[in-house]
Amino acid sequence: MASGKCLCEAVRFSIEVEPRLFYRCHCTLCRKQTGVGHNLATLVHARDFRWEEGQPVISSWHKPSGYRNDFCSRCGSTVPNALRESDYFWIPLGLLDVELNMECVGDFCTDDAMPWDEQRSANSHHAAPDSLEFLLQALQVNRFR
Ligand SMILES: [Zn+2]
Ligand SMILES: [Zn+2]
Repeated sequence: MASGKCLCEAVRFSIEVEPRLFYRCHCTLCRKQTGVGHNLATLVHARDFRWEEGQPVISSWHKPSGYRNDFCSRCGSTVPNALRESDYFWIPLGLLDVELNMECVGDFCTDDAMPWDEQRSANSHHAAPDSLEFLLQALQVNRFR
């Protein structure tokens, strides 16, 4: 069980599992989304995710390609979003309030990384994950239940 909230604490959620694995994405969009070199995120099954508060203040920005950023309209924090046409939620790690011992399973879009963004795990990928299934498997989402 883990819980998380945005910067202003208006948006709150909880997850029934303790995620152990995460990934980093160094693509241009994730760089803009976070304001730093890469994002850090994990996925959880929708049945393990619950909004506790603040859903009405969430705004959503979509790119025609499908990239999406959901954020708190009060403080601007990126918040979890339901991955399109899937049963999974995308969770930005920084919102979690529990100190979890987590391991990075991979870095994606390293070709897009800025020279000052040097952190890499053992599994570096030049491009984005081929599929959601690939990412789910890497994160072993359905194993930790
Ligand atoms: Zn907020
Ligand atoms: Zn990205």
